[in-house]
Amino acid sequence: MSAGVYLTLVHHPVRDRFGETVTTAVTNLDVHDLSRSARTYGLRAYFIVTPIEAQRILVDRILEHWRTGPGRERVPERADALGLCRSVESIEQVISNIADSEGHAPWVVATAARSSLGIAPLSFADVRATMSLAERPTLIVLGTGHGLADTVLQSADALLAPIRGPTDYNHLSVRAAGAIILDRLLGHHV
Ligand code: SAM
Repeated sequence: MSAGVYLTLVHHPVRDRFGETVTTAVTNLDVHDLSRSARTYGLRAYFIVTPIEAQRILVDRILEHWRTGPGRERVPERADALGLCRSVESIEQVISNIADSEGHAPWVVATAARSSLGIAPLSFADVRATMSLAERPTLIVLGTGHGLADTVLQSADALLAPIRGPTDYNHLSVRAAGAIILDRLLGHHV
């Protein structure tokens, strides 16, 4: 069996439109939709990173409603997807949780819509090939706001090439970008 694949959505440290490092707010749709994508593509867990305790409590309440509450009764398949989601304080905590459960620290792959970040990105084909052979788990890192802070991009083990359509419009939502990335890395392409 190949090593596990994990996803994280980072709310700090990320950039605002001026390039300053900020903390963004968690959105309900990101909790649901990226959990559903994570479940579809066979991920072992989806971590929502926020250093703000009240935001983690909010995520945990959403998860509880859908995993055990009336939400589960009404939409059991949502409980299945949200069962993969966890709220954590920092990217370091994500890495240490994965290392504890897998016995290896993950290969950390950052994502960005921007190119020219001064880091040579890996193609989707290269990341897919490395993941399929790796003994280490893989952690795919998504940003919020105007993208991951430079410190996150620089400390990752690899940067994935940006998704590009046939136009110069480059404003995918993180939920759409996450689904495209998972499909290119893990999907069955007919
Ligand atoms: N300008 C930001 C950037 O360079 O990443 C866009 C931020 S976007 C709203 C939030 C997140 O969605 C990004 O941090 C990245 O994880 C993902 N994302 C959005 N568009 C992407 C693209 N074209 N290629 C890869 N990831 C993308």
